[in-house]
Amino acid sequence: MMTNLAPNHIQAIEPYQGGKPITELAREMGLRVEDIVKLASNENPLGISPKAEFAIQEALLDIARYPDGNSFALREAVVNKFNVTPTQIVFGNGSNDILELAARAFLTADCETIYSQHAFAVYPLVTQATGATGVVVPAKNFGHDLQAMLAAITAKTRIIFVANPNNPTGTLLGKEELLAFLRQVPKHVLVVLDEAYDEYLSATHKSEAISWLGEFENLIISRTFSKAYGLAGLRVGFGMMHPDIADMMNRVRQPFNVNSIAQAAAVASLADDDFVARSYALNQAGMAQLIQGLQKLSLEYIPSYANFVSFKVKNAAIVNQKLLQNGVIVRPIANYEMPDYLRVSIGLFSENARFLQVLEQILNT
Ligand SMILES: *Cc1c(COP(=O)(O)O)cnc(C)c1O
Repeated sequence: MMTNLAPNHIQAIEPYQGGKPITELAREMGLRVEDIVKLASNENPLGISPKAEFAIQEALLDIARYPDGNSFALREAVVNKFNVTPTQIVFGNGSNDILELAARAFLTADCETIYSQHAFAVYPLVTQATGATGVVVPAKNFGHDLQAMLAAITAKTRIIFVANPNNPTGTLLGKEELLAFLRQVPKHVLVVLDEAYDEYLSATHKSEAISWLGEFENLIISRTFSKAYGLAGLRVGFGMMHPDIADMMNRVRQPFNVNSIAQAAAVASLADDDFVARSYALNQAGMAQLIQGLQKLSLEYIPSYANFVSFKVKNAAIVNQKLLQNGVIVRPIANYEMPDYLRVSIGLFSENARFLQVLEQILNT
């Protein structure tokens, strides 16, 4: 077996299961691409900002050149938007890359990381890839139990991953609670605060963690262009942190990890607040539509602060299969220890309606 050539900690990794691509379902079920609704990967149903579209067209003219390995223009844009210094930023090929860079820069095989039960699947993946040990802390009401996470810290702990809001549960930690937690985390432990869904939070709930960076040298805040900005296919995200931490992460970063199209699109996206506002408003309306529909079907769901909602259904695997047969892709989350749940992303009004209509039909037959 050639797999035996890989070290045990690599062989033990369970591959990431993404949302099923539309073209794959079309092939499998003999469906037309136009007849498929994908609500499985928390993508932006509005697509991307028109400004980003224009920037992409322009950047295409120059793709024979290597990208700027320092992402100069994008760095300036992030500096201006988020009020951080240039040396506090690390860019990634998606924010998953930021998670990976943190793991590669700071973990060795005798380290431990901590993350919550039902937390984002990439935390165990990046941990295991380094040979370190992931410690899973049981969730509390599907959310992070910060007290239990603190209690799990040992001398070997090097990173704690916190997703806020969390995927796939959509739960949110309060700011005071999070701040109190950070104040109790010892200095030998980095906290990676994954804020992939921050743009979908209301003004009162929005993160203030950037203003905490001065107090916590061990805090890494991760953000992405994949969700509200709609650039999931381009792969671009960033982390904000103490310059010394950024320095270490940049040493293991591939020099050209963010391509030139992605950089240009991200700069333009940051200049289009209107697009983000429209995305937020559509998400609010779509969430209300889905919740009302789930309630009408008497289905239990986990109240969500993001652009998706996880709901409980009998025989989730079978319901998922039937949804697929009807051209509706959602996300089964059995791999998150939630075998009775399905996660549905908020789509356009018509997509949400189609999902609810097909689901109702399945549950009533
Ligand atoms: C979607 C998601 C991300 C974003 O991943 P990218 O690599 O930026 O596309 C990060 N964290 C969580 C919790 C997510 O759900």
